[in-house]
Amino acid sequence: MNDSIRRAAAILLVILGGAAVWWAGSGAPASASANDAMVATIAAARERAAANDPRLKLASRFEQGGWIYVHLEGDPGAVGFQHGYLLGPEIEDGFAAVSAGMTHSTQRDWEFFRKAAHEMLWPKIDAEYQQELQGIVEGLRARTGSKLDVDDIVAFNAFEELPDYYVPWLNKQLKAANAPNLKSPGNCSAFVATGSWTKDGQIVMAHNNWTNYRNGERWRIVFDIAPKNGFRMLMDGFPGVIASDDDFGINSDGLMVTETTITQFEGWDPNGKAEFVRARKALQYASNIDGYIGLMFEGNNGGYANDWLLGDRKTGEIAQLELGLKAYKLWRTKDGVLAGSNWARDPKVLKVDAPQFDPTNKESSANARRARWDELLKENKGKIDVALAEKMLGDHADTAQKKEEPNERTLCGHVDGSARGVKDWAWQPYYPGGAVQGKATDATMTKEMRIVARMGHPCGGDFLAKPFLAAHPEYAWEEPYLHDMKGGPWTEFRSGQTAQK
Ligand SMILES: [Zn+2]
Repeated sequence: MNDSIRRAAAILLVILGGAAVWWAGSGAPASASANDAMVATIAAARERAAANDPRLKLASRFEQGGWIYVHLEGDPGAVGFQHGYLLGPEIEDGFAAVSAGMTHSTQRDWEFFRKAAHEMLWPKIDAEYQQELQGIVEGLRARTGSKLDVDDIVAFNAFEELPDYYVPWLNKQLKAANAPNLKSPGNCSAFVATGSWTKDGQIVMAHNNWTNYRNGERWRIVFDIAPKNGFRMLMDGFPGVIASDDDFGINSDGLMVTETTITQFEGWDPNGKAEFVRARKALQYASNIDGYIGLMFEGNNGGYANDWLLGDRKTGEIAQLELGLKAYKLWRTKDGVLAGSNWARDPKVLKVDAPQFDPTNKESSANARRARWDELLKENKGKIDVALAEKMLGDHADTAQKKEEPNERTLCGHVDGSARGVKDWAWQPYYPGGAVQGKATDATMTKEMRIVARMGHPCGGDFLAKPFLAAHPEYAWEEPYLHDMKGGPWTEFRSGQTAQK
C-alpha cells in the first residue's frame, strides 16, 4: 500500500467504523476490479470527511450561464481551502491544460517552472497569500487526493507571467541558442467611461478576455470573496488562481478594475513581486485609484504588464495606468473615456518597455481595435450603459478592411478564422484564440456588488473543437485540452448570491 492509500484507508476506517475492519485485516484486494472499487470507496469517504471540515462552513458554489460561482469567506487559510475544495476538479483540469501550454511554448519542463516558483516567486509573496495558496493545496488534496504541491500551484498562478515574460528575459540573459519565439500576450478589449460619455453620467466599465481557447474555455469562475482583512471582492477568474488574472473586478469600497496587456512588452525583474500577487492585493486593499496604483508599483516585476483601467464609483473618476517596468504613465479624468486593446501609447513606455511595437501599423490586431474603439465610443457618446457595453464587446467591425468580419482585428476576436494569425503575439495562422468571455458593470451595480458576464465569445458565437482540429492538424497537440466553447447568455451575478435566482 502506498502512503496516500494508507492515509485514505485510515479515513475510511473512521467513517465506516466496524464495517471496514474486515477489509483492513484481509490485506490487499485480490483483483483489479476490487481494487478499483476500493479506490472509489476511499475517494468517496475522503470527500465526505472533508465536506464536514469546519473551514467549509461559510463557503458555497453554484453554476449558472456556463459560469461557476463560488463564495469564499474567512481568514486566508480558509479562503484557500474553500477555493481548493469547491473547485478541486476544475483546478486539476485547468492545471493540466495550462501546464501543457507552458511547457509546449517555452520548451522547458515543468520542473523548471516549479523551481522558478519556489526560488524566485515564493519568498516575495505576502504571508497572507502564502497561507491562501497553501490552503488551496490542502483543499484540493482533501477533495481529489491530488498530488499537486504548493510549488505547482504557485507556478500555475504565474501562468501569465513566467512563460512569456520571465522565460524570454532569461533566454536573453543566457544568450540561449534556438530559443523559442515567445511574445508577451495580447489579452483583451476593454473600456471605462464616465461623465458626459455615459447615459447616467456615472462610470461604466466593460472587458472581454482574449486568450487561447484552451485556457479561455476554463476562465469561467465568478469569485465572491469576503476576506478577513480588506474589502469584499467580486471578480471573474480561473480555477486555482488567486487573482482575477484577466482582471475584471470590483470591491466593496467602490473600486472598479480592469486592464488590457501591453503588446510586445519586454522585461522582467527577478527580484520583484509576482504580478498575480500585486493585482490580487490591490483589488483587496485599495479604496481609491491612488491606493490601487501604489500597490501595483510595490515590487513591480514587469510580469503581465498592463494598461490598467480603473474607476472609483465614489468620485466618478476614471484612470489609466500604463505600467511598464522602466517607465509608466497615468491619465485620469472625471469626464472621458479610456479604452484599451493591447497597445501602449506613452512614447517613453513604448520606447523603453515595448520597443518592437509599431503603433502606426493599422493592420495589426491592437491598432485596428484601437481605431474601432475610437469610432464606436465617439458614436455612442452620452449613451453608453451596460446594455450597450455588452453589444460593443461582441462587435465585429474590422477597421483595416472596413467590413464586418469576425477575425483577429475585431473587438470580439476570432483568430481561428484568420489566415493572418497575430504575429505580434506569435499566434500562427488560424490560432485557436480570441475573445473567450466578457463582463460589464457600472457605478450603481458596483455599489450593489453586481456584474454581468457572458461565457464564450461575447457575440454569442460558438467555437467547436472537432471541426477546427480536423481542418487544422497543426494544432493537434491541443486536442486533449481543447473543447467546444459555446456562447452562453449574459448573466448577472452579485455578492452574497447562494443559488440560482
Ligand atoms: Zn464574436
